[in-house]
Amino acid sequence: MSSETIFTKIINREIPAEILYEDEKALAFKDINPQAPFHALVIPKTAIATINDITETHAELVGHLYVVAAKLAKQFGFAEDGYRAVMNCNENGGQTVYHIHLHLLAGKPMGWPPYQDKKKELI
Ligand code: AMP
Repeated sequence: MSSETIFTKIINREIPAEILYEDEKALAFKDINPQAPFHALVIPKTAIATINDITETHAELVGHLYVVAAKLAKQFGFAEDGYRAVMNCNENGGQTVYHIHLHLLAGKPMGWPPYQDKKKELI
C-alpha cells in the first residue's frame, strides 16, 4: 500500500499550502479547515501512517515535531497563553489523513474533554 497522502503532495509542492516552517525533517503549514484562530499541522517529511506505526527508530523525528511546535508557539506569540498540540490516531481518534501530524491549536481556550458525548458515559 502506498504511504502517499495529500501531505506528501504538500511536501513536494504539488499542491499549495500556507507553509509556516520547514527544515530537513519537518514541515508546518496552516490547516485548511481551522478549528481555532491559529491551527497549523506539523508533519514529518518521512511518511508514517499512524501513531501505531511509530517505532524506536522514529523517536527523534517524532520528538522533533514538538520542537517545531514550541518554536511556532513562540514565533506566533501564544506560548505563554497556552495551546493544544495533539495527534489523532485511526477512526476513533478522528484521523482522516494517514500521515502523522501534530495539530497545533491556539488563540482561544480549549475545551476538555475534546469530544461531545450527550450521555456523558465513558463506556
Ligand atoms: P486528522 O483528522 O487528525 O487526520 O487531521 C487532518 C487535517 O488535515 C484536518 O484538520 C484537515 O482540515 C487538514 N487538511 C486536509 N487537507 C489539507 C490541505 N490540503 N491543506 C491543509 N490542511 C489539510
